[in-house]
Amino acid sequence: MSLTTRFLLLRAGVFIALGGLVWLSFDAVVDRINMQWAREFAQRQVLFDKYRTLSPLIREIELARKMASEPALIGMAANEHDPAVQRRGLQVLEEYRYRFRERSYFAAFSGSGHYYYNDAANSYAGRQLRYTLNPGSASDRWFYATLKDGADYQVNVDPDAHLNVVRVWINVLLKDRGKVLGVTGTGIDLSGFIKESVDIHQPGVKNFFVDKSLAIQLSTDPAMIDFASLTKEVDQRIRIDRLIKRPADIAAIQRAAEELLEKPAGEIATLWVNYQGGRHLLGMAWLPELGWYDLTLMDEQSLTMLHEYNWVPLLFVMLFLIALTLFGWLLNRWALTPIRRLHKAMQAIQNGDDKLEPPVVGKGEVEALALAFRKMVQKVRDTNHELERKVLERTDALQRLSEVDPLTGLLNRRGMMARFEQEISRQARQDGSLGLLLLDLDHFKDVNDRYGHAAGDLALCAASKVLGGVMRAYDHAARWGGEEFLILLPDCNEADLLAVAERIRVRIEALLIDSGQHKFSFTASIGAHLPRTPQTPDAMLQQVDRALYAAKAAGRNCVKLSSMPEGL
Ligand code: GH3
Ligand code: MG
Ligand code: MG
Repeated sequence: MSLTTRFLLLRAGVFIALGGLVWLSFDAVVDRINMQWAREFAQRQVLFDKYRTLSPLIREIELARKMASEPALIGMAANEHDPAVQRRGLQVLEEYRYRFRERSYFAAFSGSGHYYYNDAANSYAGRQLRYTLNPGSASDRWFYATLKDGADYQVNVDPDAHLNVVRVWINVLLKDRGKVLGVTGTGIDLSGFIKESVDIHQPGVKNFFVDKSLAIQLSTDPAMIDFASLTKEVDQRIRIDRLIKRPADIAAIQRAAEELLEKPAGEIATLWVNYQGGRHLLGMAWLPELGWYDLTLMDEQSLTMLHEYNWVPLLFVMLFLIALTLFGWLLNRWALTPIRRLHKAMQAIQNGDDKLEPPVVGKGEVEALALAFRKMVQKVRDTNHELERKVLERTDALQRLSEVDPLTGLLNRRGMMARFEQEISRQARQDGSLGLLLLDLDHFKDVNDRYGHAAGDLALCAASKVLGGVMRAYDHAARWGGEEFLILLPDCNEADLLAVAERIRVRIEALLIDSGQHKFSFTASIGAHLPRTPQTPDAMLQQVDRALYAAKAAGRNCVKLSSMPEGL
């Protein structure tokens, strides 16, 4: 896989991993902030609901308790049949009627079962005794349940069948030195009360009140209110499970409700529940003044403070993508493209382009690499040239060696032929002369036979030295055969040629070879030839050979010129 593909995959991988991580962490952070904010919102909301509901009720409760402690009313409860006592008691009730929010009161006495009531319109002036409570009547059960419950006061939501009203009732026990004489209090019209407490127009927020058994006491939907909870068994009440369906949520609410009773007043619990198919945050507070829990349900959407910030991770992801693309572009520009160019140049050089200069590409390390490559190519080329030069030198040396006789160091037949031809053509060009001597050692077979082959070799070497000593710088001497030597003498006349030949003959004759075992001398016969007109080498060689033959025939150890007349 090419580096370009690898880097592309790497960038895609990094983008997916980091982008996903950023998205998830942003989501988690937003979620945390939202959650924190939701809890705080819920706590404030519950506090707000609590005081909004409580303030009117607390005032009424206080007033009702004050009324229940009025001696005239207690006196009336204890001795209702005394008209004076009854009058004083009713007077107190009527006084309180003006002070209650709805200008109404009730008082029911356990002794007589009499129920007194008057309303804002003073509809029952003079006939405040409305009816006598009946323990067997379902609609009067609230009274006996309140007595039985024994709490100093209670807030009870109950329709009054006799008076045809649905009210939040504040029931306060009338007591005289611990003895319960009846129940007195006032009521608040439910519709008005609901308006004030639960029917709040806050989007996404719902308010309920439940009693200790989690029976619903106040709700915007009257059908959801469990009227006269006190008079019913717990499982017959309309409880929170009408609103919250999931058993796990109900259990959590129950746990929170129990815990709130243990905690100091004013403490607020928050928990997530499912309500009408959506996640809601439930804020719970215990209202000891009412004996109720205030439940505030807030839907998740209305609690999401940061739900409009989805563009933040999107922006980050976009910026990240741009950064990665830029990174890829720079990577290509600084590294990958230069490397590709360098590679192309390398291939061209590999394929034999000797002229191409490797390009200096990229930046930093890549540039250094390109420079190093350029130097390396230069070095390789220099080395190649040096090698070629050396090979030529060696070839020359070999060429020279191939033209030399190893024993004597003179030219061999090959070398001599090359010089011969050179000299012939030069002679033709310059119209010069070319003398030729052919020398053969006399009776050399005998020398070998008598003194040994090694001694023969010594004699050959000594003879060749004689030739070297006599030759001019531009003459050529060769070992032409076993004990035959050929000497080329350019630009010489017959006299010079013969003089040289004679000098050679004399010096050879003078040689004394010492082989260690023997000392001996030998002689040489020499044929000489100097053509008057240019001749081919073969013709010249023939001529000189003939001259040598003549020298041999003439008794050896002498010089014969080819053109010499017979007998000389
Ligand atoms: P001639 O006077 O007629 O030339 O008599 P020759 O004995 O020299 O006769 P020929 O030229 O026919 O013999 C050549 C002899 O030279 C034969 C051989 O033993 C000897 N010879 C040739 N080459 C070498 C060599 O390299 N070393 C030695 N030691 N002897 C050689
Ligand atoms: Mg011979
Ligand atoms: Mg010979």
